[in-house]
Amino acid sequence: MKRISLADDLSFSRFIHGFWRLADWNYSNEQTLELIDYSLENGITTFDHADIYGSYTCESLFGKTLSLKPSIREQIEVVTKCGIVLPSKNRPENKSHHYNTSKEHIISSVDQSLTNLQTEYIDVLLIHRPDPFMNPEEVAEAFHLLKKNGKVRYFGVSNFKEHQFNMLQSYVDEDLITNQIEVSAYQLENFEDGTINNCIKNRISPMIWSPLAGGKVFTDTNSKAVRLRQTLEKIANEIEAQTIDIVLYAWLLKHPGNFMPIIGTGKTERIDQAVRSLDYTLSLDQWFEIYQASLGHDVP
Ligand code: NAP
Repeated sequence: MKRISLADDLSFSRFIHGFWRLADWNYSNEQTLELIDYSLENGITTFDHADIYGSYTCESLFGKTLSLKPSIREQIEVVTKCGIVLPSKNRPENKSHHYNTSKEHIISSVDQSLTNLQTEYIDVLLIHRPDPFMNPEEVAEAFHLLKKNGKVRYFGVSNFKEHQFNMLQSYVDEDLITNQIEVSAYQLENFEDGTINNCIKNRISPMIWSPLAGGKVFTDTNSKAVRLRQTLEKIANEIEAQTIDIVLYAWLLKHPGNFMPIIGTGKTERIDQAVRSLDYTLSLDQWFEIYQASLGHDVP
């Protein structure tokens, strides 16, 4: 699988495997290991986490799986996030849902993630969401210390709009190497508000979350979902693709912004569809047909 360079000594697989839903899959550690092995066999080496996934349980489940086969660690890139605080029975000290991007919180969150993931370093740490209370000097200090101590190799953000990205970058010495954002044929907001343009301007490849709209595109009954499904099915027929998953991924891969879609499933047959999409190229007409089906009207 093609790899995307994010820094001189860091590249990601074009497809990333996301573990947000790991706790819902109800897999044993052995089954999770089989899933990770399946991704690796298909060239997917980058794995996405956050401290809060599965109400603070997914990182540990992944870490326990890694401990079954520690040699895997050197073959993969681990991404995790911090900055959201959630009330949870697993964190009784958390009183309310809020953001915390203080130096102290970022450092303690990384220490906890390292323990949970049973690893000595995180390849890329992302600030999960823009924080209205963010003190960028503190974030910069935290990043500097984490890099100096060898706990985190690189840093980025998630869900940051242009002004939020550029503000934080102006304080942080290291380059922010990615922005993890929601993009799909169903969710066009980041095309329209300058977020994708800003990634291109900064020469960074965005990580794309919910590339299949979290499944909504397959199941929702609203007019947008129905319209989009019909168009995707028509184009799947035209390109002789087995499923509309392939068309959804091929639509993202065609974009010149070097998108890195994060696969959200725990099912190997669906990972297979993602990997197969690399063999399909949509025409520009087909790309815009999908864009317009999502918009619900022609482009101006
Ligand atoms: P997604 O691929 O858009 O959605 C996955 C969901 O779609 C699963 O529930 C899956 O069900 C379902 N699905 C897939 N193919 C389907 C089909 N053919 N028919 C019906 N349902 C289908 O991705 P996501 O899980 O929403 O997000 C991917 C990753 O992005 C996450 O794991 C996480 O790492 C990251 N993420 C980041 C943020 C952020 O704020 N930074 C937010 C959300 C997610 P099955 O499980 O049954 O396959």
